[in-house]
Amino acid sequence: MNEKEVSSIIDIYGAIRDENLDRRHLSLEDIKPYMSSLPKDFKLKKIGRSFEGRDIHKIVFGSGPVNILLWTQMHGNESTGTRGLFDLFNFFDNSNEFDPLKDQILDKCSIHCIPILNPDGAQAYTRVNAQGIDLNRDVIDKKAPESVVLQEVLQKIKPDYCFNLHDQRTIFSVEPGTKTATMSFLAPSVDVKRSITEGRKKTMSVISSINRSLQQVMPGRIGRYTDEFYPTATGDNFQKMGFNTVLIEAGHSKGDYLRKESRLGTFLALLEGIRFIALESDLDLHKDYFNIPNNEKKYLDIIVRNINLKDELMDIGVLFIEKLNKEGKLEFEPSVNQLRNLADFNADKIIEGEGLLFNDEKDVEIWVKNTFN
Ligand SMILES: [Zn+2]
Repeated sequence: MNEKEVSSIIDIYGAIRDENLDRRHLSLEDIKPYMSSLPKDFKLKKIGRSFEGRDIHKIVFGSGPVNILLWTQMHGNESTGTRGLFDLFNFFDNSNEFDPLKDQILDKCSIHCIPILNPDGAQAYTRVNAQGIDLNRDVIDKKAPESVVLQEVLQKIKPDYCFNLHDQRTIFSVEPGTKTATMSFLAPSVDVKRSITEGRKKTMSVISSINRSLQQVMPGRIGRYTDEFYPTATGDNFQKMGFNTVLIEAGHSKGDYLRKESRLGTFLALLEGIRFIALESDLDLHKDYFNIPNNEKKYLDIIVRNINLKDELMDIGVLFIEKLNKEGKLEFEPSVNQLRNLADFNADKIIEGEGLLFNDEKDVEIWVKNTFN
C-alpha cells in the first residue's frame, strides 16, 4: 500500500477497532460473541477440540483459488494477533473506500483463519497448552491435539501462504539504537544453510511489502528475527513442506502495555500481506528483506540507573512477568532481569537511582518488588 492508502486506512481505523477487545488476557469465551456476529459471507466451523475439550474454530472468507491459512494464539498468552485479526474482519465488514480492493482480494483468495488455536493456554494465560506443550515446537511429534488440528487443516487446504501470529516480549529492540521492536517478522529457513529457495523468496517478498507499509506508521520500529533453522519449529517445517509461512510478532511500544499499536501493526501487516499475495507477485522484492534491521534484546520495562551495590556503581534492569492473580486478573510483576551497566539499553521507564545503597542482590530484588508493584 502506498502512503496515501496507508493514511486513509489509519483514518478509518477508529471505526474498525472494537475497544472491548483491548485486553491482554483474551480467552475463547471472550471472542465467542464476536464469532457469533461475523459478517454474512464469513463461514464459521468447529474443526476440533483442545486437550481440555474447548472448541477450536475456523473462519473462512473469500472464494478465490489462492488459499491462505492463518492462526493466532498458538501461544495462549499472546493475544495481539487475535485482536488484529478481528480488526481485519471488521475492515472487510464495514463499507468504505476500500470496497473495490476488498472485492479483488475476495475474488482471488480464500482466507482460512483459526483464532485461538490454543484455547486452554488462552484461558490459563500460559504459552503452552494444558499438557505443558509448546505448540510451536510440536510440529513433528504432534503430541498435542491442537497440533493435529492445525496440520489436518494444513493438509486439507494446502495453503499457498500461512501467517503464524505471535507476541514478543518487551525486551526486543531494533538495531541500530534502542527503539522498541513494535513489530517483527521472519521468513523461516528450510535448512541449516538458510537456503533462499523459491518458496522462501515468496515469503520474504510478502514481508518486504509489509515492511514498506508499516515503516510509514512506525518508522524504525520493525525488526527481523534471525533465520537460524529450528528443526522442530512450526514455521520452519511448514516452509519446508512447501507452505510459505510468514511469522508475525507483535511487540511493545513505549507506554503501550495493552499493545494497541502492535494490534494496529498486526492488522496492517495482515491486510498488506494478503493484498500483496492477491494482487502482486514481485519476487524481486525479496532482496529488500535483508534490509530490515535485526532484532536485538536491548529494551526493558524499567531501568534504575546508578545504584550502589556492594560499593559498585551499576544499573538495575527490570522486566515484568505477566501472571494471573487468584482472582484471575492479569498482573505485571516486576522482576530483576539484569544487574550491571546498562548504558546501551533503553526502557519504558528510566529512573535515577543515585544514592540507593544495596548490600546484596536479594535486597535489590526485594526493593524492586516493593517499589514497582
Ligand atoms: Zn509466541
